[in-house]
Amino acid sequence: MSQRFIPLSVPSLRGNELKYVTEAIETEWVSTAGPYIQQFEEKISEYVKTKGAVAVQNGSSGLHIALKLMGVENGDEVIVPTLTFIAAVNPVKYCHADPVFMDCDNSLCIDPIKLKEFFANSCEFKNGVLKNKVTEKPIKAIVVVHVFGNMADMEALMDVANDYQLPVIEDATEAIGTYYTSGRYKDKYAGSIGSIGVYSFNGNKIMTTGGGGMIVSNDMNVLSRARHLTTQAKSDPLYYVHDEIGYNYRMTNLQAALGLAQLEQLEAFIKTKTENYQHYKHELENIPGLDLLPFREGTRPNHWFYAIFINETFGLKRHKLIESLAEKGVQARPIWDLIHQQTPYHKNYAHQIVQANKYLNQVVNLPCSSNLNTEDVDYITECLTEFNYSI
Ligand SMILES: *Cc1c(COP(=O)(O)O)cnc(C)c1O
Repeated sequence: MSQRFIPLSVPSLRGNELKYVTEAIETEWVSTAGPYIQQFEEKISEYVKTKGAVAVQNGSSGLHIALKLMGVENGDEVIVPTLTFIAAVNPVKYCHADPVFMDCDNSLCIDPIKLKEFFANSCEFKNGVLKNKVTEKPIKAIVVVHVFGNMADMEALMDVANDYQLPVIEDATEAIGTYYTSGRYKDKYAGSIGSIGVYSFNGNKIMTTGGGGMIVSNDMNVLSRARHLTTQAKSDPLYYVHDEIGYNYRMTNLQAALGLAQLEQLEAFIKTKTENYQHYKHELENIPGLDLLPFREGTRPNHWFYAIFINETFGLKRHKLIESLAEKGVQARPIWDLIHQQTPYHKNYAHQIVQANKYLNQVVNLPCSSNLNTEDVDYITECLTEFNYSI
């Protein structure tokens, strides 16, 4: 066993984190009120150029609120990708609605062509309402996940969504910092293009507040509704009048203190991650049968998570490769199991899943932390080189 341990994705807390958190503790503003929360919201919306932002407990709660704000209710359906982390889908069930699972394209994100085809052939669009012909249930929204920080094909997806008057909820939990550098959405950030976007600041994401999240939108009405619902739907703060069921989803000042310090370093994290990605790419070119998955052209990706694609002839040895890396102290993992195959979703419809099945068996994630250095990448690619790929 090796002494060395290189984790998959861990935070880097070497900026003003301790200073700001200490200030929060010394001033005794540790809970859901306090000056850092608003500052953090303002800084995030400034960074991703939205009209505003609402800080929440985590990405999952942000997505729950996003679905509610887009009108998703009992008996509705929501389009989701199957190749993603389950937290992108579970909130659909929190709303007592059902997911309809879609395949991915070669960006690993939801495939706009199959989506368009599904709407055209399997649904009926009448009086502004899109209905699934089989279940006769209305489809209310599309959840788009920017997988691993890679921008989904937003031009094509927004076209399809607009054709059917559907709101797009961007699960940008993995993609803060990713933006278009050309095309229709030039300079637009992941999370700011659809009707509403959600970021996560969980410990494994590119920046962290321990646990935390943020809702962003360019619609002031959506933002104020989000603020209302995440703070117990209190319509009179003195007399405690509540006009609907709200949630205790507000971020704390302690979390926001961490977030402000992390945001100051986000561009530096992206720079390191981009350099390490390029270094991996350069080194992996020497290993036939292994490909580093690319990020979309015409974008500046945040390079959050790195994924290698193992050539089919090696497919069956993926678990052996992961084991061999583990023995050498390198934490790697297979891509998520598909959500439509998970127990709670067995009964839900999955539309012509082909590409996702291919990636399911052939993708491995490699260490990508923002404090990973060139020597670490050298060591990891050496381990990958030494592995015996022959059948
Ligand atoms: C991390 C993540 C979430 C959930 O964020 P939390 O802050 O952990 O609740 C949702 N969707 C995707 C794709 C994620 O990677």
